[in-house]
Amino acid sequence: MRQESIDITDDAVGIVCPVYAVEMPMMVRDFIARANIKTDYLFFIYTYGMGYAEAFAHAKKATDAAGTKIHYIHAIQMVDNYLPVFEMQNQIDTLPSKNVESQIDRVCRDIAERKQIDIPITEHTEAEIQNIPLCLPFPFCEKIRLEIILCTRCGICAKVCPANNITVTDRVYFADRCEVCYACLHNCPQNALHHPSEQSAVRFRNEHVTLKDIITANQ
Ligand code: SF4
Ligand code: SF4
Repeated sequence: MRQESIDITDDAVGIVCPVYAVEMPMMVRDFIARANIKTDYLFFIYTYGMGYAEAFAHAKKATDAAGTKIHYIHAIQMVDNYLPVFEMQNQIDTLPSKNVESQIDRVCRDIAERKQIDIPITEHTEAEIQNIPLCLPFPFCEKIRLEIILCTRCGICAKVCPANNITVTDRVYFADRCEVCYACLHNCPQNALHHPSEQSAVRFRNEHVTLKDIITANQ
């Protein structure tokens, strides 16, 4: 994501990202526009909590515009970490019934078999896309409240931020590149970051992903 030029050539290439505001995150859209992907099989996997509306169509339109064809697309239902709407303990409690592992197994089988899926773009789809504006930056960070008493200035929030939007010096500072991913809120070891509309102070990180994994991925 942070390379100036992105050239990827392989027999299969996959893009895996969460659904944000019923489409892909801005930085993924930017990646697709900048990447030069050469492959016989491009798969696109979304993760989502509540729904994914026309996210498949957004993926197809973005890759078409970049001159790349998606051969397979799927969405895996996990939890929704949008704290102003979803209470995280309730979301965590839904996980057993969602059978995430079996959803992933199915996708892995499909990809191993090089299954192909068409993504039809109908008039209805186009209308829906026009009705919902693209995921645009908004001053989410201005709303994040820092509990200064709890903050140890450990810098973890800055390290997990995929947008390089946080600086920690004498306190925590946010710039204006927030992607609204909530990684900083969910991974602060002191639970010192809060959103004024959050449903509770419960936080979530996928049990298969360590803090180190996220920090390493951002480097
Ligand atoms: S992760 Fe939490 S405790 Fe560490 S610097 Fe950021 S806000 Fe402070
Ligand atoms: S980690 Fe926090 S500041 Fe960075 S993009 Fe995500 S929500 Fe915004």
